[in-house]
Amino acid sequence: MPPITGVVEKKLFESAWNFLTGWFTRKKQVEMLKHELAEERSGRLVFEKLMSELECYQDDENMYWRKDGKGGPYCGICLDHDQKKTPMTHAGKGTFYCCIHKQYFRTKECREREENRPQPKQPSYGEHGWMAR
Ligand SMILES: [Zn+2]
Repeated sequence: MPPITGVVEKKLFESAWNFLTGWFTRKKQVEMLKHELAEERSGRLVFEKLMSELECYQDDENMYWRKDGKGGPYCGICLDHDQKKTPMTHAGKGTFYCCIHKQYFRTKECREREENRPQPKQPSYGEHGWMAR
């Protein structure tokens, strides 16, 4: 066998090898991309399913409650912004607290109750105040 043939064969083998390994790498990349896409899609599906189970109470500062009444309220900012279901802590009558946002949310009922709360009648100063006594 003349030496030139050996060189050509080697070159052919190398290019075939490069082609194959390149093809494998590309195939792997495509599979990884497909996997990422599927994960993203399933994540979105999970979130869509979650949102379909919840109801937004806009009057109650956008708190979310479960439609079946089995949970809530959840922080609307966490859901809209981070797609996370954060149960809020009950911080008093009609007041709920999101520990992620460190923010209080009040129901409409609670806000109205506070607005209608009778103001303290006796001023501390003036004719009838304790300072006048
Ligand atoms: Zn939050």
